[in-house]
Amino acid sequence: MIEVTDIEKIYQMGGETVRALNKVSLTIQEGEFTSIMGPSGSGKSTLMNILGLLDRFDSGQYLLNGTDVSGLSDSELAGIRNKEIGFVFQSFNLMTRMNVLENVMLPLVYGKVPYKERRERAVDALEKVGLGDRLTHKTNEISGGQKQRVAIARAIVNRPSVLMADEPTGNLDSKTTQDIMRIFQDLNKEGTTIVMVTHEPEMAAYTKRIVHFRDGVIQKDKQLTPKELPK
Ligand code: ADP
Ligand code: ADP
Repeated sequence: MIEVTDIEKIYQMGGETVRALNKVSLTIQEGEFTSIMGPSGSGKSTLMNILGLLDRFDSGQYLLNGTDVSGLSDSELAGIRNKEIGFVFQSFNLMTRMNVLENVMLPLVYGKVPYKERRERAVDALEKVGLGDRLTHKTNEISGGQKQRVAIARAIVNRPSVLMADEPTGNLDSKTTQDIMRIFQDLNKEGTTIVMVTHEPEMAAYTKRIVHFRDGVIQKDKQLTPKELPK
């Protein structure tokens, strides 16, 4: 569970002060599927970087699954990040020299998981996203939608409690976007908490809640009835 209270993030730019987040409070329960929307510069990436433990904040409190993260060292943060958080980006960020399976096994290299179990868990994750038959393909031999599915498998292979996605379908066509959103819905149904930044109302419609940012504050926070899937 994510509990953020009165978070402030301030940037100093050539004598000017930018309040990227202005006392933001937000609670995201386990099992939620939340979209973060808002114009460019409204603080979405800043929030995602803080929630994902990639960046620190200036004041306020962040409890991640009950742990107050502000007192932790960088290496403690990295440890929690690797265990608890999966990331999916617009630009896939795959290792092009490795095959699909190797990409998904990569996050497990840092743990103490034996090879056989790493392989099994990576195959499981790839089957979940419908790529069980593409294990040995190089990532430059597959389509954009398949690349994003590899990236999703890589993000969930550690079984994180939260999946953070920043414009995950920004580079994909609308049919592929639908496929990806359904994968997110399935993962969410199985219990993964998902936080997704998007500009597209059509994508936000797949989620259960929309939080709108403007000028570093939450302008609107709306619960949704998730869209019925087309057959
Ligand atoms: P969004 O993701 O909604 O486009 P950002 O979180 O990237 O918004 O940015 C929020 C505000 O903070 C903007 O005014 C942006 O220019 C500023 N900002 C973000 N990151 C930095 C940074 N590293 N240094 C200075 N200003 C920043
Ligand atoms: P987005 O499409 O998510 O809004 P941006 O282009 O605003 O992305 O920002 C990309 C990255 O650059 C983010 O990590 C953000 O924190 C950083 N950034 C944004 N604005 C500034 C800025 N004025 N100075 C330095 N870094 C910035």
